Amino acid sequence: MRIAILSRAPRAYSTQRLKAAAQQRGHDVRVLDTLRFAIDLSGAEPDLHFRGRPLSDYDAVLPRIGNSITYFGTAVVRQFEQMDVYTPNTANGISNARDKLRATQILSRHNIQMPATAFVRNRVDVRPAIERVGGAPVVIKLLEGTQGIGVILAPEVKVAEAIIETLHSTKQNVLIQRFVAESRGRDIRALVVGDRVVAAMRRTATGDEFRSNVHRGGTVEAVELSPEYEQVAVRSAQIMGLKIAGVDMLMGTDGPLVMEVNSSPGLQGIEEATNLDVAGAIVDFIANQVAFPEIDVRQR
Ligand code: ADP
Repeated sequence: MRIAILSRAPRAYSTQRLKAAAQQRGHDVRVLDTLRFAIDLSGAEPDLHFRGRPLSDYDAVLPRIGNSITYFGTAVVRQFEQMDVYTPNTANGISNARDKLRATQILSRHNIQMPATAFVRNRVDVRPAIERVGGAPVVIKLLEGTQGIGVILAPEVKVAEAIIETLHSTKQNVLIQRFVAESRGRDIRALVVGDRVVAAMRRTATGDEFRSNVHRGGTVEAVELSPEYEQVAVRSAQIMGLKIAGVDMLMGTDGPLVMEVNSSPGLQGIEEATNLDVAGAIVDFIANQVAFPEIDVRQR
């Protein structure tokens, strides 16, 4: 197949691995800078230009859309969808996952357990919301934070109120969330491809840090997931409309609590922790979808 990886980071580990995996399998692969597309709506059919020239034909795209270019990036992916080019993650799926509140709203309808979460705007509603999710210590999250930035653990209600008020005064939207202490600084990242988990790791925060992100010094190790964790991960990705996703789960007393579904999961941490060829699994899945689009993954 002819496949384009949409990425702003051609030298990044994930991009390189996906490109190499596609080449190894004999596919024609290009890494195209997402910001160099021009969406063309002037003709009879939806079209795309790249670096000023009409785009050649592709069978599939693999979007790796960074947080800073969500709007333009999803517009490009949507244009590929209009042109009937296969994408494992749709523009809608990527937008849904990117916004932590929207993701939580969508998942909460489908019996996916998540940490108790509240979203308020008025000052007087802040304290009752904190109490509703379980009181202090409480987690405060910026809606579009990433790599643990903008995730704060407030030890007392008064401190939490002050932080939220400050963030509101600078026009930032924040989620108020129960602190899942029983997860003890650990969480699970499950890499979902199609209808299965192809790799999973446990991340553990270091020292007195509660965030387990690798960017915050968290350590990683491979884990064998129980069927419950696997099912929750796969269902979460499916509900969000993502065929490729990194699903983050805290370990609650009664099972997995989904925190986040990432539409462009990094591959380095999980491939190094598990020694598995995640990039290969992603490329194989896309090639299968392109070759047999009429067959539901479950039938294979
Ligand atoms: P980001 O998208 O920036 O990684 P997350 O929402 O995944 O933000 O939070 C970052 C980290 O903080 C998580 O990986 C987890 O270790 C910790 N964390 C987040 N929310 C909670 C919570 N409600 N209870 C306990 N720990 C949490």
